[in-house]
Amino acid sequence: MTSVRFVSEHGLHTTLVPRLSRTAAAELITLMVDISSVHLSPESPDTCLCRFTNKELSNKSFYAHAFRHLQIDVQASWVWGNAAPLQCKIFCWLACRHHLSTNERRFRHQLSPSVACPSCTMDEASDHLLITCHRAYDIWSFFFPPAGGPIPCTLGEISMAYCRSFEETTICVAILWNIWKRRNTLVFNGVDEPPLAAIKRCTEDVRLWAHRCKRASSASQLNL
Ligand SMILES: [Zn+2]
Repeated sequence: MTSVRFVSEHGLHTTLVPRLSRTAAAELITLMVDISSVHLSPESPDTCLCRFTNKELSNKSFYAHAFRHLQIDVQASWVWGNAAPLQCKIFCWLACRHHLSTNERRFRHQLSPSVACPSCTMDEASDHLLITCHRAYDIWSFFFPPAGGPIPCTLGEISMAYCRSFEETTICVAILWNIWKRRNTLVFNGVDEPPLAAIKRCTEDVRLWAHRCKRASSASQLNL
């Protein structure tokens, strides 16, 4: 990468290939006109700044600029803002997009003969599997005892009701992750684990993930 100062002192041709295409030559002329109006301050160090953030140019600033026209997904803040490992965050992201390999999705893609939940008679969609199925409810109600209000039925409602802080969001991700693992143990190994086993694993995961927190206050709150 070159800079205006380098070009002013050494000329732009020193950083270019010997022969330019017609388009590149036209762009070079435009660039040289732009550069000619730049006044340098020799006493200031030479830096490359992102014009949108006014901070040092980085991959992050480049991506922020390249995708700035896109709207941020409403689920993104809780899915990515927690102390869980990356694979658990990606799992939550897939769940939000209804891309988990549930029976409902597998049936739609002709990969399963039935849409039924392996634990009850309802269709096994993401929200059912992770939230409204009685097997999932057992785990949620242990960590978030019902307070009399409406019970969340979708991941969006879970995020609004329970993901009120970084720490709570981390606990929610651990619950979702372990409900999924418990379901897979039943489907693939034929083992119906008791709810307490999944609750114990949630607690262990949260304690482990507490070590990933940058803030000491978050780490101590997650030491359940
Ligand atoms: Zn079910």
